[in-house]
Amino acid sequence: MSLSDDLDRIRADARAALAAATDSGQVEGLRHDLLGRSGRLTALLRQLGEVPADERPALGRLANEVRAEIEAGVRERQAALSVDDLEERLASETIDMSAPGRPVPIGHLHPVQTLMRDLRETFHAFGFEVFEGPEIETDEYNFELLNIPADHPARDLWDTLFVAEPGSVEAGEPKPARDGTILRTHTSPVQLRAMLALDAPIRVLAPGRCFRYEAVDASHGSEFFQLEGLVVDRDTSLADLKGMLEEIARALYGRDVRTRFRPGYYPFTEPSVAFDIGCLVCGGVGCPACKRSGWMTILGAGMVHPTVLRNGGFDPAEYQGYAFGMGPDRMAMLRHGIGDIRLFFSADTRFSSQFAEGR
Ligand SMILES: [Zn+2]
Repeated sequence: MSLSDDLDRIRADARAALAAATDSGQVEGLRHDLLGRSGRLTALLRQLGEVPADERPALGRLANEVRAEIEAGVRERQAALSVDDLEERLASETIDMSAPGRPVPIGHLHPVQTLMRDLRETFHAFGFEVFEGPEIETDEYNFELLNIPADHPARDLWDTLFVAEPGSVEAGEPKPARDGTILRTHTSPVQLRAMLALDAPIRVLAPGRCFRYEAVDASHGSEFFQLEGLVVDRDTSLADLKGMLEEIARALYGRDVRTRFRPGYYPFTEPSVAFDIGCLVCGGVGCPACKRSGWMTILGAGMVHPTVLRNGGFDPAEYQGYAFGMGPDRMAMLRHGIGDIRLFFSADTRFSSQFAEGR
């Protein structure tokens, strides 16, 4: 076989391989295999010295021609491939400015928050301002100052969640914190915080989260909301409390709402009352929602106990006050016909997205 045939074969192989190459890496590899230091063409040129002198010029020309063709072919293919790459990249990075944007999900208020906001607005019209206290309280504010001493039987009403004494959990023996830190069981400690912080006349509303160690079921959660109101002033009476609550009930449930007061008991009010409205479900006839009584209790209230007034820095001979507390969770359940309080803390958007009106 002659060198000239070998050169023709190299030329044909190079053409085919260049045409088949799909990326610049392959083309570079091909150039190396043919023209590199130990490439096929390079090896073949080394043999030129061994051919007879009269054949050498023609073969030399042919070899240079093949080399030039391969080099040009490599350059051309590389250029073509890089254009392909660029076009591909451009295509993948192109943005259609006229395409509609992706919708951004917009949140909305939780149904309990919507209800609390409505209550705040209603009470605002009656001159109440919001006063907030901490969710992690002390035994003193949560119980002692509210006329619930350690041995008071009313303490059984509050199944308290204690904050652990530092280190006691790690030691495998959790103990209540020595400084009496607890999760507040009601918003009533805010009454004391308000009395100690403000001068009379006081008209505050304390909305907030509370915690109790409850056997959780459809109507009891270990986490729930309360909304508490406190008025402290001279010459404030139970008649003022009754008149205001009746007005509040009309504002919330309409002018025709029926109301009644029943005796109640709280250690921090005296006298204490429960405030009922005619059942919103049956209109007073009796149904499962009102336990066949025709009435629904919407809040508890009473005149601030003289001991609590004194603890708050007010002389009961000069000042009186009244307080009331309601359960926004229950009220939201009533408003929307929700049967299970646990849904409120389920973080399930199939549930919460049904209440987008609070947006
Ligand atoms: Zn009813």
